[in-house]
Amino acid sequence: MHQEIPELYGSMIFSDKVMRNKLPKDMYKALRKTIENGTHLELDVANSVAVAMKEWAVENGATHYTHWFQPMTGFTAEKHDSFISPSGDGEVIMDFSGKELVKGEPDASSFPSGGLRATFEARGYTAWDPTSPAFIKDQTLYIPTAFCSYNGEVLDKKTPLLRSMEALNDEAVRMLHLLGNNTVTRVSTTIGPEQEYFLVDKDLYDKRKDLIFCGRTLLGASAPKGQEMEDHYFGTLKPKVSAYMHDLDVELWKLGIPAKTKHNEVAPAQHELAPVFDTANIAVDHNQLTMEIMKKVAEKHGLVCLLHEKPFEGINGSGKHNNWSLITDDGVNLLNPGRTPAQNIQFLVFLMAVIKAVDDYADLMRISAASAGNDHRLGGNEAPPAIVSVFLGDELNAVLESIENDTYFGKQEKIQLDTGAHVLPHFTKDNTDRNRTSPFAFTGNKFEFRMLGSSASVSTPNIVLNTAVAEALAQFYEELSGTEPENMEHAVHELLKRAIRKHKKVIFNGNGYSSEWVSEAKKRGLYNLVSTPECLPYFTTDRSVELFTKHHIFTKEEIFSRYEILLENYAKTIGIEARTMIEMLTKDFLPAVSLYSGQTAQNAASKKTLLPGLSTVSEETLVNKLTDAYTKISEGTEELKELTKKAASMEQMQQAADFCQKELLTKMQQIRQIVDETEALLPDSVLPYPTYDQLLFSI
Ligand code: ADP
Ligand code: MG
Repeated sequence: MHQEIPELYGSMIFSDKVMRNKLPKDMYKALRKTIENGTHLELDVANSVAVAMKEWAVENGATHYTHWFQPMTGFTAEKHDSFISPSGDGEVIMDFSGKELVKGEPDASSFPSGGLRATFEARGYTAWDPTSPAFIKDQTLYIPTAFCSYNGEVLDKKTPLLRSMEALNDEAVRMLHLLGNNTVTRVSTTIGPEQEYFLVDKDLYDKRKDLIFCGRTLLGASAPKGQEMEDHYFGTLKPKVSAYMHDLDVELWKLGIPAKTKHNEVAPAQHELAPVFDTANIAVDHNQLTMEIMKKVAEKHGLVCLLHEKPFEGINGSGKHNNWSLITDDGVNLLNPGRTPAQNIQFLVFLMAVIKAVDDYADLMRISAASAGNDHRLGGNEAPPAIVSVFLGDELNAVLESIENDTYFGKQEKIQLDTGAHVLPHFTKDNTDRNRTSPFAFTGNKFEFRMLGSSASVSTPNIVLNTAVAEALAQFYEELSGTEPENMEHAVHELLKRAIRKHKKVIFNGNGYSSEWVSEAKKRGLYNLVSTPECLPYFTTDRSVELFTKHHIFTKEEIFSRYEILLENYAKTIGIEARTMIEMLTKDFLPAVSLYSGQTAQNAASKKTLLPGLSTVSEETLVNKLTDAYTKISEGTEELKELTKKAASMEQMQQAADFCQKELLTKMQQIRQIVDETEALLPDSVLPYPTYDQLLFSI
């Protein structure tokens, strides 16, 4: 097997090697130019690529092709067309043209548009993104594409990401040139998304409507054992899990997805997978595919992969860590503290731009991680708080303090430049503190945004981050431009000083889980937007509109439509959860309570008749408890039904989402508490669905 892996790796992607082999030299060159510099693709090149792609796809068993895109549902979408083309004599040929490669026309009317696309103009189109390689999956050639309405409004998560990468590239290159680094011509965003997930037994899963419809348990008493023993994290992999992970790796590798690290996570049945980082849009595509393949491979192993942020109460939920950095075309990681003074100045400018970006647009960063599922995590003592802050670690913090105060920062081995900027030693990852409670942490040579939910597309946070950093760099550029090269070091130093003073409020190196931090953050004037409906309105503020329109990421209309979609999605999710809960209570749980209390009452009665001397106090107490619970749960269910109806009737989306959060979720939580207490009174044989014990400890 090990011999085969290099050969297996990327075998299902239309890789550079395949392109080089299959394309005429001039066509290959033209395509490379498009990929590397984003130049326009001529039709003759597209035709030539289409022929090569089809040939390769058919050789590898593909019969169909699809334009694969990422609508605002957060999932991916595909419509398959076969290569078959009748040749007129009752025979068919396998055909695929440049036009079919470059552009598709799916009916866009069933995808969320937030009112952007008038129904009379339902057409949308997909356009090939040649920077992300095509691949074969399930005998189909997948062509990664962007998705727009016919009038050019963006309807997906890829287009704005590509635009944000461009905006950041422009600003970063401009800044580097200003700082005297003239060799760089391109700067790319790199990301490495660590993905958490749960595995549960498929047969057990199939018995729980909440898992099937909502991806999370709405009811269920905690197992006697949770994660308190801390014995799962990095623990030995069980054979079934290990077999799953192996298969998953192989499937991912075939698609050129560099799955690298896998281990058990903190909660029982929870695991993590991390790939080697890649250019942002490729990493986003890969993460979407990874989530899909995780689910598919699980089925083969009699398992179900849960990507929901909070499948189980009482134990950790799942997140996604978005590791983010910038790399130049000559291979320099701009967040790697350099060895020379010039590199250090560069590093400090970019570091400060990120800090500024996160401080200035903390509300948008929070929004980029907002979803109904993730609301269960953020602020719980398992995931970063809903307050966005930046962790730098002691060493970097000392550097910034010394710049701010014009002081030396102590350690002998660091030489101070005339400007006060220190030559930093080469940071190694282990040099930085590991603060797991920070939502946005510097980890040696990259930032790690840890607020993201496990099921979310990593596109949105990177759109926000890229755009905000582009804006910070643009503002720095304004401040520095016109400075003579010989004064640049001094000007940078002064700029950094100003920026540190202004933005140090967002830097926090302490325990993000503590209640002291909540009050401290409030004093500092930081946002603490605890729920999705509460944070979403910040998407449509003038500041937000200005940011995104200035950098050509979204139009104002696109922002408002996205805001509507996010609200609607939230309200719908809670609505589905409420209806699922009502159904489980009415059809499963309440009948079980009634049955068991009836049985117990009968037992007590027969005991009284047959053995009149014996006490039936215990049975009676139990029946009383069950009856009491039955009444409360029934009443709660009726109330929940009313609230659900009311929520569904609300036309104003913000109002509906607020109502869902304040009323529906609260009611559901109240009911759940009684149900979970009652569950403890029922024998497993009576329980209508598998318990937490079974779900979490049966693999
Ligand atoms: P952790 O201790 O957080 O698990 P890892 O070393 O496993 O850290 O890295 C986590 C992720 O960060 C990996 O996906 C890795 O590829 C990614 N990563 C490393 N360097 C960069 C970078 N320069 N840009 C983006 N992501 C990076
Ligand atoms: Mg990490």
